[in-house]
Amino acid sequence: SETITIIGGGLAGSEAAWQIANRGLKVRLYEMRPARSTPAHVTDRLAELVCSNSMGSTLPDRALGMLKNEMLRMGSFIIRTAFKHALPAGSALAVSREDFAAEVTEAITGHPNIEVIREEVQEIPEGPTIIATGPLTSDALTQQIQALTGQKYLYFYDAMAPIVTAESINMEVAFRQSRYDRESELGDAEGDYINCPLNQEEYEAFVRALLEAPRIPLKEFEKELERYFEGCMPIEVLASRDINALAFGPMRPVGLIDPRTGQRPYAVVQLRQDNVAGTLYNMVGFQTNIRWGAQEQILRMIPGLEEAEFVRLGQMHRNTFINSPTLLHPTLQFRRRDDLFFAGQITGTEGYVGSTMGGLIAGINVVRLVQGEPLLTPPRTTMMGALLYYITHAEPDNFQPMKANMGLLPELPRRVRKKTERYARYAERARRDLEQYLQETGFQPVEAPGVPVG
Ligand code: FAD
Repeated sequence: SETITIIGGGLAGSEAAWQIANRGLKVRLYEMRPARSTPAHVTDRLAELVCSNSMGSTLPDRALGMLKNEMLRMGSFIIRTAFKHALPAGSALAVSREDFAAEVTEAITGHPNIEVIREEVQEIPEGPTIIATGPLTSDALTQQIQALTGQKYLYFYDAMAPIVTAESINMEVAFRQSRYDRESELGDAEGDYINCPLNQEEYEAFVRALLEAPRIPLKEFEKELERYFEGCMPIEVLASRDINALAFGPMRPVGLIDPRTGQRPYAVVQLRQDNVAGTLYNMVGFQTNIRWGAQEQILRMIPGLEEAEFVRLGQMHRNTFINSPTLLHPTLQFRRRDDLFFAGQITGTEGYVGSTMGGLIAGINVVRLVQGEPLLTPPRTTMMGALLYYITHAEPDNFQPMKANMGLLPELPRRVRKKTERYARYAERARRDLEQYLQETGFQPVEAPGVPVG
């Protein structure tokens, strides 16, 4: 029987491999780690979660809850395995990343229909293929994809903001408040943000330090740096435009009153809760690419953060994705080559669950293609269908990766004002439409021994 090639053993690639192998076809899965790693991965495991360990809401009427339920209905191996290794996290699915990735790795490498080859693929292969190499696709393959798609700019840089432990913030200086929040200003309510106030002198010293700081060198294509995702610009780049750029940007003090002075500070650094337990806070809008030693020193110049303990420092990473609206069908097939599929973040579906979804659909569809059956395109009213529709129909000129969200769904036949009710209706409609679609197409999920469904 025909062998399907998958490039990339991340979330999408692992899901696709499992779907194909359990439908009786052979898979050759290429993963370049550990021989060659990415700037974000730290292990050699398949389906490594590179950053947060959260897969988002489990509530059936939230975008990520809907998406996960739909994927479970279609037999997603990755989502089932994630639930198996869930940690307590309220209504979010947080997973034990080691156990999760270990189980995925074992299931894939031990599967009789799958051969895992630890090698970097540098050419796009012939025959039925899924490219699932993610946001950090290797340079050699990126060049091949550039040649194939005729796309010059296949990536841009994304910068991550630092994260601080809550207990290391000096609350004698910093204060809790949301912008324009009268109550918290009067001390009657706790605002959602922790604010670190700076006076003019402190602000200017901070900006000077930023401008002098050494940056992490970005190997190639320095010119590409012009292509920042607006709103995701590193603070040092913003600061270099104008001494007051930060005071009017991420450090703007509007709507905030320091309860200790009764005055609006000259500038502020806002911190937002980052984990469910409230033990971690991320620095809002503080993406940076300053070298790590210097970065800690400079951030500790911020009043309230003198003793801050950083669990993650700012870093810049590459985000590779193709212009799916001009290149892909909603089945995830490449428009100019039927047996070539793309899946995962490289198609512009952002996030762990959205990326996995592409692997599920591409895996199922490549099998259907080989077996001469019609390919699946879930209805647009489902979260899966809405994402697939979005990436293949968005405005190509400004195409950017997209997370699952309610705004992607078509309007309800009648307007529903209240948000909670509207979301409940969206979820109900999606469930019904998916069910009907799966009936019509005669789709059967593959059951996994030992893995609970839902
Ligand atoms: P990946 O999981 O990255 O898998 C791609 C695989 O392909 C990798 O294992 C890689 O080694 C391999 N590969 C690449 N090139 C080749 C080649 N030429 N040959 C063979 N193998 C190759 N999403 C979230 O939901 N939450 C987060 O907190 C989050 N944080 C992120 C942080 C960073 C730094 C980055 C870069 C992304 C983050 N994302 C996050 C976004 C994204 O959802 C994840 O990166 C997700 O893992 C994407 O899944 P994927 O399967 O498309 O790619």
